[in-house]
Amino acid sequence: MIDQIIEFNKQFVASKAYEQYVTDKYPSKKLAVLTCMDTRLTELLPAALGLKNGDAKIIKNAGGLVISPFDSAMRSLVVAIYELGVEEIMVVAHSNCGACHMSFDHFHHEMNARGVTDDTLDTISKCGVDLNHWLEGFKDPEASVRNTVTTIKTHPLIPADVTVRGFIIDSITGALAEIS
Ligand code: ZN
Repeated sequence: MIDQIIEFNKQFVASKAYEQYVTDKYPSKKLAVLTCMDTRLTELLPAALGLKNGDAKIIKNAGGLVISPFDSAMRSLVVAIYELGVEEIMVVAHSNCGACHMSFDHFHHEMNARGVTDDTLDTISKCGVDLNHWLEGFKDPEASVRNTVTTIKTHPLIPADVTVRGFIIDSITGALAEIS
């Protein structure tokens, strides 16, 4: 598949298909969106929110979560605010998210089957990584969105004048429901 993508890319550049996407690094809507990596949202989310290339910083991970105050998602938000002028943040989870029902028990079984030994898992745990927490799903999507919004809003490095609001987007219709 990657070889096919490389071939496509050559055509894309040669035909100057990139011209319609040219913009700069500053988000013109001064907006950041933290959302899930789910493939249903790849085109649906920007389309449903009316976002075009150059409009917003879109930060993605499994579930659209901040799982600890200094994780990669939080780092990206801090950069978006201080380096790129972001003033508003939307946390957008989605219906039927695959990260909802994750459990470490499942990962444990699959990892063992793919050659990761319990010795390796023990070593990681001894290094201070709580794999249960790192890979656990969220049972309640609304509570999860509230938790992430609160973590961002109360973060010591997030200025008080930055707006942070939480939503769940319908994975089929794109309808947004705000989580208050
Ligand atoms: Zn998801």
